[in-house]
Amino acid sequence: MQALARRVELFNVTKTFGPVRALAGASWRFTEGRVTVVRGPNGSGKSTLLAIVGTLVRPTSGRVDHGALGGTRAEVRRTLGWLGHESLCYPDLTGSENIELAARLHGRDPGHALALAIERFDLGPFAKRPVRTYSRGQRQRIALARALVHGPRLLLLDEPTAGLDARATELLRGIVREEATRGAIVVLVTHDPGFAEAVGDETLSLDRGRTT
Ligand code: ADP
Ligand code: MG
Repeated sequence: MQALARRVELFNVTKTFGPVRALAGASWRFTEGRVTVVRGPNGSGKSTLLAIVGTLVRPTSGRVDHGALGGTRAEVRRTLGWLGHESLCYPDLTGSENIELAARLHGRDPGHALALAIERFDLGPFAKRPVRTYSRGQRQRIALARALVHGPRLLLLDEPTAGLDARATELLRGIVREEATRGAIVVLVTHDPGFAEAVGDETLSLDRGRTT
């Protein structure tokens, strides 16, 4: 089974931005059905690593093998669920409209996607208001729902609990576990030790751009 499992593998990946060395030799294998928690201090390369796994940033050296997820960036991106530091929501659309639009862009039924998101994220009446009026946590819940509309095989979440209250964090814990059980490769960055412990199968620690 293991040999057939979908996976993403990094081989001695480095990334420099001008004089800054964001990644200095990162190697890891991310496997379907497992949640990898990425830990490390500010500036240790966590977001850069996530962006490289998601094909949004190219490594300076080293290799990334996406295996059965796809041989091209376009193929990988079609099955990528991404939550970065920006919510990627359209501020003048409502939360519901953002979710419906994301579903349409992925060729999914918008009504079904919205109903599922409302149920999973317990979205209240705020979903009918424009996103520009949202609190941080409300925006985060829409951004998470949006990242999941297409049942991605590769799910990358950068600090997904940012702004979430205890109840929403607990909902997210359950959702992340469901996504892994469904067979997604899940990689998430968090500074919340309780959440990391509750959700993670394995931990990747970064120290000044190196996997330790
Ligand atoms: P983390 O997510 O662990 O806090 P990052 O991966 O965002 O760290 O950044 C690692 C290092 O690379 C930091 O020193 C950061 O300032 C730098 N860096 C990240 N992205 C860029 C960029 N686009 N241009 C220049 N420097 C960058
Ligand atoms: Mg970061």
